[in-house]
Amino acid sequence: MNNLSDIGTIRDLLARHGFRFSKSLGQNFIIDPTVCPRMAEECGAGQGVGVLEIGPGIGVLTEQLAQRAEKVVAVELDERLLPVLDETLGSFDNVRVIHGDVLRLDLAKILEENFFGLKAAVCANLPYYITSPVIMALLESRLPVESITVMVQKEAADRLCAAVGSRDAGAVTVAVNYYAEAEKLFDVPAGSFLPAPKVNSSVIRLTVRPAPPVQLTDEALFFRVVKAVFAQRRKTAANSVSAGLGVPKSVVTAALSAIGQPENARAERFGLEQLAAFANRLKAETESGAKAEA
Ligand code: SAM
Repeated sequence: MNNLSDIGTIRDLLARHGFRFSKSLGQNFIIDPTVCPRMAEECGAGQGVGVLEIGPGIGVLTEQLAQRAEKVVAVELDERLLPVLDETLGSFDNVRVIHGDVLRLDLAKILEENFFGLKAAVCANLPYYITSPVIMALLESRLPVESITVMVQKEAADRLCAAVGSRDAGAVTVAVNYYAEAEKLFDVPAGSFLPAPKVNSSVIRLTVRPAPPVQLTDEALFFRVVKAVFAQRRKTAANSVSAGLGVPKSVVTAALSAIGQPENARAERFGLEQLAAFANRLKAETESGAKAEA
């Protein structure tokens, strides 16, 4: 078996395959031997569990997952890595590598075909250029996975795991919180990768909620409100929502007042429950306004 976290082995492997790192594909491979076993443990890989990995690279995390999980499916976009993965993962009969773009593949179908009867989890050292789109696609599509354990840029981790209503929170914090409970597991310094990126990283775990923590009358409207509230944090929520959604300011302030928020409330004042109440109230106000006009 290879020792894939040994820098000499990695360099030799990559040289034999004439591989050159692609910056645009976010290729920074883990060389710290402690990181992947820890990620594989934290994601809950074990018997009865199928793990979807995004971007296996040369397979350093994949082999740790394969040693623990019942089945692993790894989606890799870079065709040049397929022969490398054939070599490094060839001895595992519970790993399937799929060539494709994670944002374009039908992941629900892939899970159904490969993880039938298994609990499912996602584990990945994500390419940083698509961190938020991948996380949001997994959550919004309500992919049937119990958790998502991913390495992301440290700043992204801080934002994703911030408390809603704190200064670090953004629209993505709220969106992630709606679908999952987010926690930071551990930090990983830039020197743990080849090549070393300019930023530090963190591993986070999103434990998917069985049901949303708030009741919404219109989910799409809720996300539009959240986006508007956080788009320009220095503006009042009333101004941002009025401009962003094209709703008269008087209607927005009426909704704010009905949920006990002042006219000049800003993003930091809103927890998840207040945002849900705000969106629900706005829906009721706009509907009653429309009825009155009719
Ligand atoms: N898992 C390996 C590790 O930890 O060393 C590699 C991680 S590297 C940060 C990200 C990997 O994602 C690369 O192998 C890259 O080719 C792959 N990748 C980039 N964009 C992708 C996409 N849209 N779909 C699937 N894989 C992608």
